[in-house]
Amino acid sequence: MDDVPMGSVIVLLGPPGSGKGTQAERLGGEAFSSGALLREAIADGTELGRRASEYMQRGELVPDEVVVGLIRDALGKMGDRGVVLDGFPRNVAQAEALEDVLAEQGRGLGAAVLIDIPDDEVVDRISRRGRDDDDPSTVRNRLRVYHRETEPLIDFYEDRGALRRVDGTGTPDDVAERVRASVA
Ligand code: AMP
Repeated sequence: MDDVPMGSVIVLLGPPGSGKGTQAERLGGEAFSSGALLREAIADGTELGRRASEYMQRGELVPDEVVVGLIRDALGKMGDRGVVLDGFPRNVAQAEALEDVLAEQGRGLGAAVLIDIPDDEVVDRISRRGRDDDDPSTVRNRLRVYHRETEPLIDFYEDRGALRRVDGTGTPDDVAERVRASVA
């Protein structure tokens, strides 16, 4: 059963390796991962993919207009099912753009769930994952970018009364249970 109400959107926040992708799948609804869409564009050899790849290799954020365009299109095609966003928004400008897109499409933000894990566990988990942008220097940069660009979203969503904090340590099942309880 889906834990995401119809028409509503849940944002998953958390550092790289915190398990956002896994938890997005577990929640049900339509999971949308900006990173996965960008990796698809790279694999397809599209112009957008070529543009995104240099940023991703460095662990930097891809320019806002590229990802905001992707999410607007993806949400536009998604019908009434609840949506879980994994990896978007990544900074305040994207979060503001998301509010506009949701208003345009008549959707509401259900909650922003922060999956909290310590930095040393991030490095540990990612070193076992083996993706292209998972080498140690890129991971360190992605963590820096997370703290600088993405962490301000914690206050952003707290101010809107939408933030739910969840302990991201333990097994995927443990975390799924906490995430589910936080949005119920
Ligand atoms: P992820 O799969 O979410 O870990 O994302 C992998 C990489 O894709 C990130 O390090 C960024 O380079 C890029 N990326 C994914 N989502 C976004 C986003 N919302 N804004 C900018 N860049 C993104």
